[in-house]
Amino acid sequence: MINADDVRKLAKEENVRYLRMTFSDGLGALKNIEIPIALLDDALNNKIKIDGSSIKGFLPIEDADMYLYPDPNTWKIYPWVADKNKTASMICDVHNTDGTPFIGDPRSILRRELDNVKKLGFDTFNIGAEPEYFLFKADENGNPTMKVNDDGFYFDLEPKDLGEACRRETSNVLTQMGFQVEADHHEAAAGQHEIDFKYDKALYTADNIQYFKLTIRRIAQDFGLCATFMPKPITGINGSGMHLNMSLFKDGTNIFDDPDGLKGLSDTALYFLGGVLHHAKAITAVANPTINSFKRLVPGYEAPTYVAWSTSNRTPLVRVPAGRGKLTRLELRSGDPTANPYIAIAAALAAGIDGIQNKIMAPAPVERNIYKMTADERKAANITELPASLSEAIDDLNNDEVITKALGSYFVDKFTELKQQEIDAYRTNVTDWEHKEYFDD
Ligand code: GLU
Ligand code: MG
Ligand code: MG
Repeated sequence: MINADDVRKLAKEENVRYLRMTFSDGLGALKNIEIPIALLDDALNNKIKIDGSSIKGFLPIEDADMYLYPDPNTWKIYPWVADKNKTASMICDVHNTDGTPFIGDPRSILRRELDNVKKLGFDTFNIGAEPEYFLFKADENGNPTMKVNDDGFYFDLEPKDLGEACRRETSNVLTQMGFQVEADHHEAAAGQHEIDFKYDKALYTADNIQYFKLTIRRIAQDFGLCATFMPKPITGINGSGMHLNMSLFKDGTNIFDDPDGLKGLSDTALYFLGGVLHHAKAITAVANPTINSFKRLVPGYEAPTYVAWSTSNRTPLVRVPAGRGKLTRLELRSGDPTANPYIAIAAALAAGIDGIQNKIMAPAPVERNIYKMTADERKAANITELPASLSEAIDDLNNDEVITKALGSYFVDKFTELKQQEIDAYRTNVTDWEHKEYFDD
């Protein structure tokens, strides 16, 4: 852990010139203002003010002053900025002028939910995230083309895998920034990649996801490529997910683990899982928050469409991967990298806590390929479906009192308003598919 004094020392030792005060807007886009390092003390004393009126999901224009409270533990130096302008960043909570946390700040919303973990007597909620992405070729102006960088497949090597050099350099940069990179590989779709980094406490994994996306995009540019985290960039092949591996600890012991329990899971894990399945539809609104997200959640592409769980089978919503003891975890497979990580994690956690508090026991696991089950077989096994569209998911979120309460009605109302605008914009947009389908009708 790094504290404010460590930051002062590091800034001096590393000769840092600029500081990015970084935070996430209501939809999860990373935002920042840059200050000269001479103002570091002001920054560490929470004195840096911003105008939140043009930030999505923040405040109305009449009353928009807000303060940034940086978290020293998120201190990172951007390796891609030249040394003469050495630039560091800290991720901040957003507070009101009276010092209270702003109710629409995603990081503060996750913090609030994490306090509930403590109230239940647990000490740590860990998340390991697996954000996948595509590399597309850039044109001479650096803009994305619709040509993927290669036609490699899962775990391919060079020369099939043409993303190898870019991925390795990205891993180097992530390592320099303090990430513990565990693996990198070509993913199953053409042009699709994955770099895995070590799990951490939920808040810091959410921060890491934000830094990760920034880094992936930035380093791709150096290779004449454009990286995208959109969930389904190409019709007919796998999309990009952001699996969330969740575990709960108390005094260094993984509470989800029980060698005598069903599939090696404790009752607490089965209740947590029961809660996640019970609130799955509402979670989808924030874990899959774009129109495009729902083009990934279709059968046949390793992405879930059904509300069920299993161990090795990859078709249900939640999987319990191999590895028990300290490694026991629940892998929520629905989320994609357009999710605001703070909010998606807060929603999943709120669902799990509800499961524990109300003893919502998980149903029996489904070890079959659900894509291949008939509707009647699914009905008999009590398997329901995830929402089919953003519009349905937003309704499900608004109808779910537990998740709405956890995220706060301020956030849910703003989010709903912004998403409704997105839904309307898409609904009134005429697409290429329609031209092809209807031109001659
Ligand atoms: N790309 C798949 C998805 O959309 C996941 C593949 C995997 O299991 O890593 O979720
Ligand atoms: Mg993967
Ligand atoms: Mg996974």
